Amino acid sequence: MTNTNEGTLSSTLTALATGAVQVHDLTAPLSAETPTLVLPEPFANLNDFSLEEVAAYNAPGPFWKHHNIQTGEHIGTHIDAPIHWISGKDGKDVSQLDPQRLIGPAVVLDFSAESAANPDFLIDVEHLRAWQEEHGDFPQNSWLLFRTGWDQYDHDKQAFLNLDDSGSHTPGFSTECAKYIADELDISGIGVETVGIDAGNAGVLEPPFPMHYYLLGADKYGITSLKNLDKLPAFGAMIVVAPLPIVGGTGAPTRVLALVEN
Ligand code: MN
Repeated sequence: MTNTNEGTLSSTLTALATGAVQVHDLTAPLSAETPTLVLPEPFANLNDFSLEEVAAYNAPGPFWKHHNIQTGEHIGTHIDAPIHWISGKDGKDVSQLDPQRLIGPAVVLDFSAESAANPDFLIDVEHLRAWQEEHGDFPQNSWLLFRTGWDQYDHDKQAFLNLDDSGSHTPGFSTECAKYIADELDISGIGVETVGIDAGNAGVLEPPFPMHYYLLGADKYGITSLKNLDKLPAFGAMIVVAPLPIVGGTGAPTRVLALVEN
């Protein structure tokens, strides 16, 4: 084997080293302050993230510092695996996701204006068809990333969840759109900026939480609480989705990186 720099991967690595390709972190920082889903009564909520000090260069560990962590699976920027939902209960857990599908083209669709005008805005099939008519089919193995501007609220739990007496008001998808993405598109998954892959008020749709129901039932994956989608081109970026391989896990905190050509 010769040591040349002519391979596809080598040229990417050179581009990373020279800055011709930039890496953007799409992950929200994970802490006890990270805003998380609040389910109404009678449903049970997950634990928020927390760090517990075990040693800090002191008697329990004179030369080191380390913590225990506690967290629900679906906290902060995270992925939903098929077994998270009843429609995918015989599918993959988060440790079984095919790594080949965790790296792929990123397509960014911008609904920030619509979401600012109406926090209950639902993306519909026609919005995706309009994109396809302009650009062609979504690339195989791609991740559709839906920009709603919601990441601007990710430091503020009240604004992020936008809860009132009638529930949570954050943008998402119509039932028909969820079904279309799940059944008609040859993609790996979707990503959103909100706390979940469905609209805040999607419990009233039929079936309830249709994106969870159709997407996870079709062995596609969903990522939540993304940031920095405004730094990505509409297409041409590549994303790397790296969940913890929790055996039996229904989801996991996930580092999501995007490679963008300058
Ligand atoms: Mn989740």
